[in-house]
Amino acid sequence: MNLTRLVFLALFGVAAAACAPPAEPPSEDAKETASAAPEADDNPLLAPSTLPYGAPDFARLRDAHLLPAIEQGMRAAREEIGAITDNPEPPTFENTLEAWERSGQLLSRARRVFSQLNSADGNDTRRMIARETAPLLAAHDDAILLDPALFARVAALYEARDTLALSAEQARLLDRRHTQMLRAGAGLPEAEQARLREINQELATLRNRFQDNFRDDGAAFVHVLRDRAALSGLSADLVARAAAEAREREYEEAWAFTLAEPVVFGVLREADDRELRETLYRAYKNRGNNANEFDNNRLAGRIAALRAERAALLDHPSHAHFIAEDNMAGHPDAVMEMLERLWTPALANAAHEAARLQQQIDAEGGGFELAPWDWWYYAERVRAAEYAFDEEQLRPYLELGRVRDGAFDLATQLWGVSFRRRDDIPGYHPEVQVFEMLDGDERGMGLVYMDFMARPSKRFGAWMSAFQVQSTLLDTAPLVTNTSNFGPATEGEPVLLSFSQARTLFHEFGHAIHGLLSEVRHPSLSGTAVARDFVELPAQLLENWVPEPEMLARFALHHETGEPMPTELVDALRAARRFNEGFAATEYLASSLVDMAWHLRGPAAPPIEDAIAFEDEVMRERGLIPQILPRHRSTHFSHIFPGGYSAGYYSYIWAQVLDADAFEAFREQGLFDREVGERLRQTILSVGGSRDPMEAYLEFRGAPPSIEPLLERRGLQQVDQGI
Ligand SMILES: [Zn+2]
Repeated sequence: MNLTRLVFLALFGVAAAACAPPAEPPSEDAKETASAAPEADDNPLLAPSTLPYGAPDFARLRDAHLLPAIEQGMRAAREEIGAITDNPEPPTFENTLEAWERSGQLLSRARRVFSQLNSADGNDTRRMIARETAPLLAAHDDAILLDPALFARVAALYEARDTLALSAEQARLLDRRHTQMLRAGAGLPEAEQARLREINQELATLRNRFQDNFRDDGAAFVHVLRDRAALSGLSADLVARAAAEAREREYEEAWAFTLAEPVVFGVLREADDRELRETLYRAYKNRGNNANEFDNNRLAGRIAALRAERAALLDHPSHAHFIAEDNMAGHPDAVMEMLERLWTPALANAAHEAARLQQQIDAEGGGFELAPWDWWYYAERVRAAEYAFDEEQLRPYLELGRVRDGAFDLATQLWGVSFRRRDDIPGYHPEVQVFEMLDGDERGMGLVYMDFMARPSKRFGAWMSAFQVQSTLLDTAPLVTNTSNFGPATEGEPVLLSFSQARTLFHEFGHAIHGLLSEVRHPSLSGTAVARDFVELPAQLLENWVPEPEMLARFALHHETGEPMPTELVDALRAARRFNEGFAATEYLASSLVDMAWHLRGPAAPPIEDAIAFEDEVMRERGLIPQILPRHRSTHFSHIFPGGYSAGYYSYIWAQVLDADAFEAFREQGLFDREVGERLRQTILSVGGSRDPMEAYLEFRGAPPSIEPLLERRGLQQVDQGI
């Protein structure tokens, strides 16, 4: 695999953080509330907060503060940029790039707080603000990046870069800003820039609508059961949740099933009733594809076409070329080479697994052919039969608080940092817990806001974001968030996680650590502001510890007895670790291939009206087996249409090559080896985007990453025999 050509995608300004949620659009009816601005001096977003670390003052923040702060932030940022371009002095690093770094702090504060509120605790007002501000913010960003006077100053500095005696980080910032402006179209004639501005604004609006559509389409679905027999196999938790859902919707003597992820996947794993599985599976996979007002088929085509047009204006054959150029991959050929190398063995493994599941169906006298909605259910049965292992056995050992403390403990082992609760600092929701991270010398380093539980106002999935990034220039500490959809919790009962949820917690905590351990000068190079196909490395790396017996012994204690997980259970978990990997890899790679197919289309390609038909055709050509669908179907593929992973969904597996290889360093010297941990901190975790990622990686590992540990981990070694 070509990992040698490396270019950085630093996410300047207030770009999405790792796993960041796409902006969600609003509904119509809340306009009044949002535009009724209170007195300006009441608005806690308008001035830096006086709370510890400059933490947002959520106790004082009202929804009515959000829009005025964003609007005022845009005005202030424009004035600050104006002061740079009006400066009669010749451009210097300080009066141009450093001044740019200092600009926009009000907007950054408002935008970051708003983005997390809207994603983690959305309401009609917030959605309305998202819809209203998306095109304005796109225009605002373009106005800066396409400002000819600003570009002239940056370009002059870039030309003279060898004579400026810049530090390594300053040189990196200059290079990144120059590249960023060129990629935004700063070098183009005015007419083409005008078209770029239009495209960006239309895209901002369409991306919001796309997200809105599939969310609303999914939310409109409910499946009501009155026959108790159909509940057979479901866990008590799931049944209780369905009963509560029915009561809330005022159905008597009934159970109601929504498309919330824990519900859908709980049913797919547990429900003996095949019809129930099929109903939920089809509804889940068809979000945004129901030929109603929420249909995303055409929107997907339009978004892809606009991106192709923009890429052409910027002199790239396709959007995938445009994206890859600024990532580690460098070129879509490198992406496709890796995906194709993995696809064949993954598919072969999946076909093998499908045959095994069919055997199970036949052995039980099922008398039907394995369908996509049967996969999870029969995978559990085969796992139980072959490994005497049921994932549910793990749950009592994975109490949420203990898993969280396990993640903290890992950070203590590797980097000497510690965590303490800060109940004096307000969260944005009663369920949010705020923790302070202290370095080995007890110096406070920053805060992490942990928001674990599922609720209707929260977007699906899990992500990390930041209210503020670390910068010595601005003297700011990192304020990061970890958001997920665990639960539901039964009142008074401990929250017990599944194994994959425990991994998710460690994953997002890895992103949080990347933000918290940052030690750079310039905010736009801070923490997770790194290449998209590099940013998953710290997060995925931390997942590696979760199934390790030494790690489980530290945190996986029974929630009632405090007993460690029994050795037989740990052994069974490890023996079964490659089980169903063919399915997981195939499902993921299928979505990656669909993403690339969408974004490798050039500007002259005919418009796509039926996104699902396009996807089906791509998958037919790739030989996907009928028992599996891509993990995300195109009409609700939030990573690539509304989100920031277009032509970049491959990043997860790309970074897996790195994380599997990086974890070998710990295997070699000890899982909790402080020296390796310290080296990782110095070379990768603290440098953010201030260094070239491959250079940083080479310094950590002493050699380029090898793909072998990943192939071994996922059981894909047979790739070289060309199966
Ligand atoms: Zn991630």
